[in-house]
Amino acid sequence: MNDLDRAAEILRACERTVLLTGAGVSAESGVPTFRDALDGLWAKYDPMQLATPQAFEADPALVTRWYDERRRRVASCEPNAAHRAISRWGAALGPDRFTLLTQNVDRLHQRAGSENAVELHGTLLVWRCTLTGETAADLPVPLPHCPMPSPAGGLYRPDVVWFGESLPPEAMRTAARAIEDCDVIVSIGTSAVVEPAASFVAWARNHGAAAIEINRDATPISDAVDVSIRGLAAEIVPALVERLLRVD
Ligand code: NAD
Repeated sequence: MNDLDRAAEILRACERTVLLTGAGVSAESGVPTFRDALDGLWAKYDPMQLATPQAFEADPALVTRWYDERRRRVASCEPNAAHRAISRWGAALGPDRFTLLTQNVDRLHQRAGSENAVELHGTLLVWRCTLTGETAADLPVPLPHCPMPSPAGGLYRPDVVWFGESLPPEAMRTAARAIEDCDVIVSIGTSAVVEPAASFVAWARNHGAAAIEINRDATPISDAVDVSIRGLAAEIVPALVERLLRVD
């Protein structure tokens, strides 16, 4: 039996499934992974210089410009076959049996139809006032000012989770419930090094769940899962979902 068939067999036997997705799922949509986004003019920066509250405080214009450029790139990208297959999978199992946790900030899962995707790291598409916490989802692309003043007299920052910040409490609660209740967790296109999501697979396993990984490369969790499938998310995930949803 090959890895895809073994993964499908495990998944079919499970009642509740959790997916944890990362930047690799969006790679074939043309959304750069975090490292790849630091190209061209941005190559000289370290993510720590751009993705922290301290960076925003020190140079709000620079950080706003970087996020606004990433937002513009994402707006021109389309969901790929992996996003669409995940959406079909979720629709087939229904919300009581399927939870999608994503570290992605690009909203491509939602654009593919996964309306209940839990955004662990927020999203690039929304900005948040530093004074009031009020959010704005409809600011023009590109922003007319960098930094961008908010009506309350603060600045708009991206509504993403920066290094050193906590995950949104509601997203974390939903994730904890799903992880502790699931029978299987599937980690797709994530390097499994950014905490706390990096520990989600071990957490689910400690509660008795099986674990499957789909990734182009080996990761720190590859040896600790039941099935590790090496390949591109846009090829592997549709093939897996087709096996799962096939009526024999
Ligand atoms: P990461 O960049 O650390 O890891 C991406 C993983 O995907 C790697 O293991 C890589 O080998 C794998 N990969 C690359 N292309 C693939 C493909 N086509 N198919 C399957 N796997 C592939 O990303 P991460 O683990 O999500 O964590 C990094 C942080 O960066 C997260 O906090 C996330 O919020 C943020 N981020 C998000 C986006 C996005 O929304 N698309 C983009 C960049 C960064």
